[in-house]
Amino acid sequence: MSWLPVFFKPRAIHLVVFGAGARAERKLRFLERFDCSVDRFALESSDTNSAISVVSSIEAIDLRVYSLSTLFIAACEDDRHNDAFAQHVRAAGFQVHVSESLAQSDFLLPALIDRDPVMVAVSSAGQHPTLTRLVRSRIETALPARLGALANIAVSYRDKVRQAFSSINARRRFWERHLEGRVADLVYSGHDDEARAALDSALEQSKASNITAEGEVYLVGAGPGDPDLLSFKALRLMRQADVVLFDRLVSQDILNLVRQDADLIDVGKRRAEHTMPQDGINQLLADLAKQGKRVLRLKGGDPFIFGRGGEEIETLAEQGVSFQVVPGITAAAGCASYSGIPLTHRDYAQSVRFVTGHLKNHSSDLAWDDLVGAHQTLVFYMGLVALPEIATQLIAHGKSAGTPVAVISKGTLPDQAVVISDLENISEAVRTAKIKAPTIIIVGDVVKLREKLSWSSS
Ligand code: SAH
Repeated sequence: MSWLPVFFKPRAIHLVVFGAGARAERKLRFLERFDCSVDRFALESSDTNSAISVVSSIEAIDLRVYSLSTLFIAACEDDRHNDAFAQHVRAAGFQVHVSESLAQSDFLLPALIDRDPVMVAVSSAGQHPTLTRLVRSRIETALPARLGALANIAVSYRDKVRQAFSSINARRRFWERHLEGRVADLVYSGHDDEARAALDSALEQSKASNITAEGEVYLVGAGPGDPDLLSFKALRLMRQADVVLFDRLVSQDILNLVRQDADLIDVGKRRAEHTMPQDGINQLLADLAKQGKRVLRLKGGDPFIFGRGGEEIETLAEQGVSFQVVPGITAAAGCASYSGIPLTHRDYAQSVRFVTGHLKNHSSDLAWDDLVGAHQTLVFYMGLVALPEIATQLIAHGKSAGTPVAVISKGTLPDQAVVISDLENISEAVRTAKIKAPTIIIVGDVVKLREKLSWSSS
């Protein structure tokens, strides 16, 4: 990342602004919102006022009076003067921001969304002011105007809540419950006193019921890869989990959305050529929840479709650990949508079947006779390795060799690839295209619709 965001206490720093025109005025307007001391300088030729010290040359600005906690802002209308100023202060060891030239700057002043004490700083690293404005207005509309008031009330209750709950998990949960919902709504509508009363009674109640922090497991489907396909509920639970167990199929972009200080455990990683055994995962989930943790079990696609999610919660149920299951978009649905292949269609397919292509005992695993009927779509998961066998068996059991087939690799991700052929030729086509796992195989006449309906770029 190219810029490190840091918040300073305004009193802890001193600022020097160089310039007297519109650029300098804009910087000053930004700085006026903070309680920091600012010196201003401008060259003699500028149109100045009494608050500005006029100097005959940049070198005449005496830098020895400034401590190293001083930040300099070059905001002249003339870029050459700004460059000269930057050089002068940098030579003395100071950091400088050069107006409208981030390449020359050591720091930048971000766009702000102010809900003091909550503060959101936005920057596109100077690359795209329009984008920054867009992001800022989105955040402005997403954050209630009285969020700051809610934060202040929460701060004033910190000690009381600490007394009521000894464990950090219980405190966190108390706040998660009340920083959304009724208390928050009361503050947002200006009823601060009623919100305080509601908090007081919630604290009384929790003392009376002596709530202890119980752990819980969230079995969450992360979808096929594109983070925009996560559900709101998945995202909410990802934000509050204490520990996350994830699979190989969960993309990095999605992992980036889990709570920053959560512990991440990769249970899909090959350790000495073994993934963590399923029993081990089942027991780890239960053990972590028993320690009072909120455990997120994040799985690719949907947890109940070829995800062994059922086995995981079976262990939890047996051991009395509470859990929730959140569905995700399964790979078949994601790949179908992103490749323009509807899985059912009035004219071509009245049913769709999700089939495992992981053939443990070769061809004898599947009831092939059931799969070759007309007017249905077959979707094979985990079928890349067995694709030649799948095609051969379907043809041998009566499916036409010309039945259209699509193989979709890394569906919904930026590097999604699609290979279209028919049962007879698909294995060769896939070999030539050298596509990579994970892949979904769609077999049926609906594949023909892709020509008309494809909308994404692959
Ligand atoms: N629970 C998952 C499936 C897990 S089995 C779900 O509902 O999607 C793993 C198989 O899912 C892979 O072998 C592959 O067939 C399929 N898969 C998962 N993500 C995929 C993706 N982004 N593109 C193509 N296939 C995918």
